[in-house]
Amino acid sequence: MQEFDIIVIGGGSAGSAAAGRLSESGKYSVCLLEAGGTNDNFLIKTPGFMPFLPDASNYRFDTVPQKGLNNRIGYQPRGRGLGGSSAINAMIYIRGHKWDYDNWADTGCKGWRYKDVLPYFRRAEHNERIDDEFHGQGGPLNVMDQHYANPGSAAFVEAAAKLQLPATGDFNGSRQEGFGFYQVTQKGGERWSASRAYVEPAVAAGNLHVETGELVQRILFEDGRAAGVQVKRGTVSETMRARRAVILSAGAFNSPQILKLSGVGPAAELQALGIGVVLDRRQVGENLQDHIDYVSRFMTKSKDFLGSSLSGTLKMAGAVLEHRIRRTGAMTTPFAEAGGFWKSNAKAPAPDIQYHFVPAPLEDHGREQVSGHGFSCHACVLRPESRGTVRLASNNAGDAPLIDPNFLDDERDIAVLRAGIRQMHRIIDTPPIADYAGEDVNNTPLDDDDALDELIRARADTVYHPVGTCRMGGDKEAVVDHELRLKGVDGLYVADASIMPKIVSGNTNAPSIMIGERCADFVQAHLG
Ligand SMILES: Cc1cc2nc3c(=O)[nH]c(=O)nc-3n(C[C@H](O)[C@H](O)[C@H](O)COP(=O)(O)OP(=O)(O)OC[C@H]3O[C@@H](n4cnc5c(N)ncnc54)[C@H](O)[C@@H]3O)c2cc1C
Repeated sequence: MQEFDIIVIGGGSAGSAAAGRLSESGKYSVCLLEAGGTNDNFLIKTPGFMPFLPDASNYRFDTVPQKGLNNRIGYQPRGRGLGGSSAINAMIYIRGHKWDYDNWADTGCKGWRYKDVLPYFRRAEHNERIDDEFHGQGGPLNVMDQHYANPGSAAFVEAAAKLQLPATGDFNGSRQEGFGFYQVTQKGGERWSASRAYVEPAVAAGNLHVETGELVQRILFEDGRAAGVQVKRGTVSETMRARRAVILSAGAFNSPQILKLSGVGPAAELQALGIGVVLDRRQVGENLQDHIDYVSRFMTKSKDFLGSSLSGTLKMAGAVLEHRIRRTGAMTTPFAEAGGFWKSNAKAPAPDIQYHFVPAPLEDHGREQVSGHGFSCHACVLRPESRGTVRLASNNAGDAPLIDPNFLDDERDIAVLRAGIRQMHRIIDTPPIADYAGEDVNNTPLDDDDALDELIRARADTVYHPVGTCRMGGDKEAVVDHELRLKGVDGLYVADASIMPKIVSGNTNAPSIMIGERCADFVQAHLG
């Protein structure tokens, strides 16, 4: 039987950071177990191949039918393989708002104020352009300006400025509000996943043992502590022992699933599936939050934008060649090149709407092929009030869990989204982006609340930021404490997006990496 000091479950954003950092000192033997493969291929590494990623790198989860979305089934992509979702994401580098972390601390998460998390964001980061009190130099996560910008994205940013919306060159500095180009987690024109940042260097240094193709089925407990895991390699189940700690980093859907399969969760749900109850914890799998998002699509005569046409295909072929040779050009696009943060309500403590401008005509998460050229703009609600759940579909770790984001359950969310869409169209109707005369394919009924709500319910879905299902907190019901220890057993930590008590106001990769970095410090402090 294999034995390690520390076993980390899941090599995604947080798990890569935690495993990489814990292995650095050489004090502990650390094993990282990842269900998927290595993700070491040029499709993953080339940013512009994002729409063509290998099936094996994405769980492609479905949600249960969403009442607030006319009973539609939502799409929930999640990364599988080293790097996890950072291997398939849009590479946008955003940390959320200072208010988010201060609010976590004010609601019971001691030690998670902005001033407490900022050093970890900085420690993780190497920013190629910005060197100031907000940004880090020399960290493993490379952050840079985009190599390339579509002229349409620049037109979007200029139009926002014409409406007196502030321009910014740094969404992660002293002020989040404003419009501009996103910085990206890339290096030398390639995607810089958490695995490239943390796992590859640790493996090269000989300090980290990594096993891919290992589906963790459950965590094993002995005398009130996590003592190991049961894994499935192909068709064979095996046990691995953890002498000091197990860190669960399987993400917002799979971490609660694995806890429940291990007997930690709501007793009635576990018993209904014949799972022995180790700890009756009602909050495991509750508190699911996600950024509900609406995409407006515009078609153009201009072929400045990406799209499917003969000339578009020829341009793309040239771009692929340029990228293969020089790692520059249009294939470095993160697609959501520009965007902004905006307050729909002046009294809000922080922007409540985020925009992602994509210089391509998007439909159904890019799954529907659209012919012709155009652009799209996303608007998402940054601090939704709706709360959902992750429940077990079966007692088999290989089966997807039942994911219910419960989108738009709270009426306040649709009101914010409505305001965000109206503001988006104001920008699109302002030159120079208006000069492209984009045809709004949905004839968005901006002046009619009811008709706009109908369109939202018919089209909205996730912008890929599920969090909160193993909530951190100081209260008895919280799943983990402020040092990420699972309450009620020893030696078990949860570190990933699932521990966020409340969703952050922005994209969730950098915050998940920050959580992994912090977990490594907590574990080292506890183990000595
Ligand atoms: C399409 C898409 C676009 C996105 N764009 C952005 C963006 O531009 N910027 C941004 O900041 N965020 C973005 N995000 C969100 C961000 O990437 C995620 O929030 C973040 O990566 C989550 O990190 P995590 O550590 O919680 O989980 P993940 O990174 O998802 O990692 C979980 C890992 O656990 C593994 N695992 C699961 N179950 C098991 C098991 N039973 N046994 C072993 N291993 C298991 C998985 O295979 C996976 O590797 C995007 C996400 C997606 C899907």
